[in-house]
Amino acid sequence: METGEKGVKFDVQKIREQFPILNREVNGKQLVYFDNAATTQKPQRVIDAVKNYYEFENANVHRGIHYLSELATDKYEDSRVKVQKFLNAKESSEIVFTRGTTEGINLLSVSLCRDDFFKEGDEIIISNMEHHSNIVPWQLIAKRTGIKLKVVPITDAGELDFDAYKNLFSSKTKFVSLVHVSNTLGTINPVKEAIKIAHENDVPVLIDGAQATAHFPLDVQDLDCDFYVFSGHKTFGPTGIGALYGKKEFLEKLPPYQGGGEMIRDVTFEKTTYEGTPLKFEAGTPNIAGSIALGEALDFLSGLDREEVETHENELLKYATQKISEIKKVRIIGTAPNKSAVISFVVDGIHHYDIGTMMDTYGIALRTGHHCTQPIMARYGVTGTARASFALYNTKEEIDNFIDALNKIIKMFS
Ligand code: PMP
Repeated sequence: METGEKGVKFDVQKIREQFPILNREVNGKQLVYFDNAATTQKPQRVIDAVKNYYEFENANVHRGIHYLSELATDKYEDSRVKVQKFLNAKESSEIVFTRGTTEGINLLSVSLCRDDFFKEGDEIIISNMEHHSNIVPWQLIAKRTGIKLKVVPITDAGELDFDAYKNLFSSKTKFVSLVHVSNTLGTINPVKEAIKIAHENDVPVLIDGAQATAHFPLDVQDLDCDFYVFSGHKTFGPTGIGALYGKKEFLEKLPPYQGGGEMIRDVTFEKTTYEGTPLKFEAGTPNIAGSIALGEALDFLSGLDREEVETHENELLKYATQKISEIKKVRIIGTAPNKSAVISFVVDGIHHYDIGTMMDTYGIALRTGHHCTQPIMARYGVTGTARASFALYNTKEEIDNFIDALNKIIKMFS
């Protein structure tokens, strides 16, 4: 994997040139893409990796002994190593390819359930700022196991209430699952500290990294999380691919999620034995092109100076926050001091859908609604927000366009 070029000045125009979609127009206007928390755009090299696979390398993995099958298998397994390095996991066998964050959490909850990890009355700690994909899978297994969800409240600014978190632990606490960066509030949670507290209580932790991977470097060994999940499509890679990291001692012990080809050693009608980790969790033909292109996306990111990327995104956040705060009718939801480049907001007297629809006429892509975080909406007493979320290719000029458009929309509605 390429290493980031430290000290090389971050050049946003050079980055933009690598993303063909950023050149297009929408509704007759130059596209301003501020929906990066939903999915990021893809650089040409990622698009080429998908095309190249189908054009020159297509074969099934782990099965054939012919040239193409071995090539596809090598590239698939190389990508696993790229994910391992990207997360700084100890071993590549700790990386399971999934469809994305959602599947990673479902895989884990179902496997834990099958392992009889939970017993009736056990408790799982999550927080009020989880994405639905870190709530519903636990509710699904709660029905079967009789476990209860305990929810860490959030402060008015949108931070985890840490005292409340500590107080939720009891002898019944069996698992913690927390979001690293909130897709709605932008809050970057102090997960390392949260993991330490859970471990002091002998409780393993899963971190939902869906909104972290595109924005800052990760080190699962330093965090000491037991599991980490993320999505390729939010990390400049394709849709339908992501990964679950799990400490080896857990993955080795856990039973499979799905059954089928690729994940077995021997099958008879009486008894089936499984592959070791990670293959026992990857039943059926995987997303081979997706995993190879994900590796390419991680190479793209790792080839940049990540500190420069963070600085650029923080400047965008600061600039946009300041500009939007100058508009009287706007209220930002999520004002934690440690934030990723996400601004959720409501405007007095204008429905968020109207803002999104009007923005679209200016070629500006925002997200509106509850962002799959209805408990956050309930916490702040709103039905939805408009959300601008930035990535490394966004610019201050785009923010100026957005603020201009917002002022026009507010004027039009008043
Ligand atoms: N968690 C968070 C924090 C997210 O932002 C998202 C996507 N919006 C998910 C989980 C689910 O990701 P995916 O749809 O890629 O599985």
